[in-house]
Amino acid sequence: MVTSVQLKQLRTAQDCLDFRALFSQRSVVLVPTMGALHAGHEALINMAKQHGDAVVVSVFVNPTQFGPNEDFEAYPRTLDADLAICERLGVDAVFTPSVEVVYPNGYLNETGQAQYTQVNPPPELERQLCGLTRPGHFTGVCSVVLRLLMLTQCNKAVFGEKDAQQLAIIQRMVSDLSLPVEIIPHPIVREENGLAMSSRNRYFSTPQQLEASLVLSQTLLGIQALLIERKEQQKQRAFDEIEAGDATLFSDIDMLDIYHAQLKTFSPEAAALLKLDYLSMVNDDTFEPLTEYAGQLPLRVLMAAYVGDVRLIDNLRLI
Ligand code: AMP
Repeated sequence: MVTSVQLKQLRTAQDCLDFRALFSQRSVVLVPTMGALHAGHEALINMAKQHGDAVVVSVFVNPTQFGPNEDFEAYPRTLDADLAICERLGVDAVFTPSVEVVYPNGYLNETGQAQYTQVNPPPELERQLCGLTRPGHFTGVCSVVLRLLMLTQCNKAVFGEKDAQQLAIIQRMVSDLSLPVEIIPHPIVREENGLAMSSRNRYFSTPQQLEASLVLSQTLLGIQALLIERKEQQKQRAFDEIEAGDATLFSDIDMLDIYHAQLKTFSPEAAALLKLDYLSMVNDDTFEPLTEYAGQLPLRVLMAAYVGDVRLIDNLRLI
């Protein structure tokens, strides 16, 4: 169905095939989203436009990546506004499949067990960080992303570093399955106050919630500042002829100290809303977890925290 001269709305597998045929010798770039589009998504779309001949944005709130007690029902759905954004940005097509299009044979049986063909990420990538708190989440993510890549027959797809573990897992899936798709990462887009943009930020209305949501970016920046400071100290020690590079620059415990120091700067009402899920570091090349850091590896620090019932994630590459 055509909603305007430029923007096509694709709903079925056949719609996708028909659209793909229009660009048969050209490259199509997919931006997979769950809708409730914000400036972070817009940046991904603009990047997609630079990488191919046509841009498809998928809007699908994927039920299989939500746990039983998560916010699948409540997740913001703003399709009209999403379509307007896509039209404004010159997107070629928006793919808005139903659950039946993505899971033609269903995804749960009568007893609530998964009954669809799943893609399970490797345990070493999955069993940490968000995978621990959200069991099965990344199976749902890989399973839907593979379907979206196949349905749209895209050549490239853009994913945000905001979901850094998801990005690492998808890059691995593409490599493991030899999928003919190039994954293009996009840096995190932030509000002026540092908060990473997220569709879930819409859940916040009170000043206390907004204040509390800043704990993630502020903790990550605090860790970055500590790392810079300790590196300076290390250089000084090297100057004093103590071998540089062997000493731990910081550890999990230092990171927790910074989180708690940040908490103390918040109003008691905001601090009371917060619950840390994880604050961890990984080797950014392999996503291998680290408990301490000596300075040689590419490092990413990742964090998840609840503001009331709302779970936020953020991360920062430090080297
Ligand atoms: P979502 O709609 O939240 O599933 O996100 C769709 C895509 O947009 C994913 O690849 C996310 O990583 C990416 N994304 C969401 N928020 C941001 C952000 N603030 N900065 C960069 N990418 C983002």
